[in-house]
Amino acid sequence: MFEIKENFSLKNYNSFGVDVKTRYYTECSSVEELSDFIRLQKEKNLPLFILGGGSNVLFTGDFEGYVVRPAIKGIEVISENENDIQLKVGAGEDWDDFVEYCVKQNWGGIENLSLIPGNAGTCPIQNIGAYGVEVKDVIVDVETLCISTLKTYRFKNEECKFGYRDSIFKRKLKGTQIITHVTFNLKKQPVFKLNYGNLTEELNRHDKVNLQSIRKAVIDIRNSKLPKPEEIGNAGSFFKNPVIEKSKANDLMILFADMPSYDQGEGKIKIPAGWLIEKAGWKGKRIGNVGVHEKQSLVLVNYGNATGSEILHLARNIQQSIIVLFDIELDIEVNIV
Ligand SMILES: Cc1cc2nc3c(=O)[nH]c(=O)nc-3n(C[C@H](O)[C@H](O)[C@H](O)COP(=O)(O)OP(=O)(O)OC[C@H]3O[C@@H](n4cnc5c(N)ncnc54)[C@H](O)[C@@H]3O)c2cc1C
Repeated sequence: MFEIKENFSLKNYNSFGVDVKTRYYTECSSVEELSDFIRLQKEKNLPLFILGGGSNVLFTGDFEGYVVRPAIKGIEVISENENDIQLKVGAGEDWDDFVEYCVKQNWGGIENLSLIPGNAGTCPIQNIGAYGVEVKDVIVDVETLCISTLKTYRFKNEECKFGYRDSIFKRKLKGTQIITHVTFNLKKQPVFKLNYGNLTEELNRHDKVNLQSIRKAVIDIRNSKLPKPEEIGNAGSFFKNPVIEKSKANDLMILFADMPSYDQGEGKIKIPAGWLIEKAGWKGKRIGNVGVHEKQSLVLVNYGNATGSEILHLARNIQQSIIVLFDIELDIEVNIV
C-alpha cells in the first residue's frame, strides 16, 4: 500500500534543485496501487501531478495537490529471436540503468542515449534523443493507465505520434494518462550510429567500436559539455531547436552568414537554439541566482537558491530577445508546473 506524505519537499526530486513543497506526495509501485491512489485523489478533488525523475520539470511554486511518482519496476523479456529482443520495462526504472543493462547484454539501439537522466516511463513523452538516435526508433508500444476511466491502454509506436521532442502524450493526451510500462525492441546484432557530432572522433580513443565503447564515448562527451545536475541545477536543454520556413532561413542567412542550418525536408529548416541564444549574447550570462551555462547556451542553470519563477523569468527574457533579433519564437522544452 502506498504511503502519503504531507508538505513534502521536492528539492531533491527535481534536477533544477528548486526548493518547493507539495501538499501531498506518494509513490506507487504497481498499476493497482496507482488506480487506488487515483480514486483517492479524485475523492479529495485536488490537482494531480505525475513526477518521474524530475529532470525535465520546472516548479514555479508550491504544489497544492498530489504529486505521484510511478515506481513500477522490472525488465521483462517479452519475446526474442536470433536478431531481436523485446523488453517490457516498468515506468519507474531509471533510464540510464536500463541503457547500461542492455549494453552489458550486447543489445543495441539505445547506447547513444546513455546518461540521459530520468525514468524509462518518461522517455516516450518527449521522444528523448541524442547523438542521432531518438527513442521512437526502438519503442514497440507504451502502456498507460487512463486517469479518468482507470482503464489500461496500449499505444503502438505509430499511435504515439512521435516527432522531434514530441508525442501524443505531450499533446492530445497530455495529463490524461499515466505511463506504466514501455516495450522496446533491441538488436542482437547491433548497427552502430556514429555519424553525429564528435562521436567518431571520441571513439578514436578506444581500441574497438562496440556498444560498450560507444556508451563510454557518449558519457565522456556529455560529461565534458553538460553541467551535472548534482553539482549545478539544470534540466538539460531548456528550449527546443526551432524549425522555420526555408525562405525565412534564407533571409536570415543574408544577415547572419555563419548561422548553422539543417534541412528538414518539406521546405523546413532547423536552426540550433543554442547558436541563436549565444548570438544574442546570453552565453555564460549570470543574473543573480540564475544564468545561461558557460559551455552550453541551451542550458539554464540554478546557481544555488533560485526560485522557479526566477528561472522562468530568464527564459522569457531570452525568448523575447530571440524574437527581436531573429523574429524566431523559441519553444520551451521543459515542463513548467
Ligand atoms: C543534464 C540533463 C541532460 C539531458 N539531456 C537530454 C537529452 O540529451 N535528450 C533528451 O531528449 N532529453 C534530455 N534531458 C531531459 C530529460 O532527461 C528527459 O526529458 C527525460 O525523459 C525526463 O524524464 P524524467 O523521468 O526526469 O521526467 P520528469 O521531469 O519527472 O517529467 C517530465 C514530464 O513527464 C511527465 N511524466 C513523468 N513520468 C510520467 C509517467 N509515468 N506518465 C505520464 N507522465 C509522466 C511529467 O508530468 C512531466 O510533465 C536532459 C535533462 C538533464 C537534466
